[in-house]
Amino acid sequence: MIENNIVVHIANLETHQGQLMCYNCSMLTVVYTIIYVLIFAIGATIGSFVNVLVYRLPRDLDFVRGFSFCPACKHRLMPLDIVPIISWLLLRGRCRYCEARISPRYLVVEAACGAAGLLLYVFIPSPTQAVLFFAIFCVLLAISLIDADTQTIFDGMNIALGVLAVASIWLGPEVTMSSRLIGLAAVSVPLFVISIFISGAFGLGDVFLMVAAGFLLGWQGVLTAFFIGLILGGIYGVYVLARRKKGRKDHFAFGPCLAIGIFVSLLAGERIIDWYLSFFR
Ligand SMILES: [Zn+2]
Repeated sequence: MIENNIVVHIANLETHQGQLMCYNCSMLTVVYTIIYVLIFAIGATIGSFVNVLVYRLPRDLDFVRGFSFCPACKHRLMPLDIVPIISWLLLRGRCRYCEARISPRYLVVEAACGAAGLLLYVFIPSPTQAVLFFAIFCVLLAISLIDADTQTIFDGMNIALGVLAVASIWLGPEVTMSSRLIGLAAVSVPLFVISIFISGAFGLGDVFLMVAAGFLLGWQGVLTAFFIGLILGGIYGVYVLARRKKGRKDHFAFGPCLAIGIFVSLLAGERIIDWYLSFFR
């Protein structure tokens, strides 16, 4: 429908003799702008649900039902207090009722989900695949934030990623079933073995995360994801040691590094593998 319109408008432009934009074309720009703003708003709203999930899941609170409340004063939040991004900015990051500071992370998560939704919509040709990738982005974001907060990856989140991995059989990325099945074990089994011999190196949550990621990405993809995760983990580890925030014995959350690796591999895994293999040709 929109493609047909574009053809008509290009034809219009040619008859408009140098005029920059015909009436129909400027209407099309308005329509597209509305669509983009709407998609960003939907993404940001889902981002605010991610915030709720990240707060409530580790505290064993119901994250589907139950009204929103201020973590500091427990005051029930009204609809105007929870408009994604806008409420935080208008209230300057403070609770309307008790003036407690609200972490800028809420704002960043909402904006990141809005931006991710919009970018995936624009750059991924298939709308259903864009929705799948966005859902995967949100699950990985929630896993990262919860792991950073609590050093735990919850089974429920890994199961959610597994369900999306099954959906990806039909929606892509195109990975053969044999590659997916090898992927289940390609990283998770070695991680599991390491976790037996070096206690605290990796948690079971990391292992199950790589099971789901292996089915999603296939074995080449999950290896790529893992190497990206290792590099990020190494950089982060050096940073932490340099800042001396933690002693050498403490372990830090590896989940966010793995999650970034998984998403980068999902978007660009094939290109990264081709680039890597080009050194050996
Ligand atoms: Zn409050």
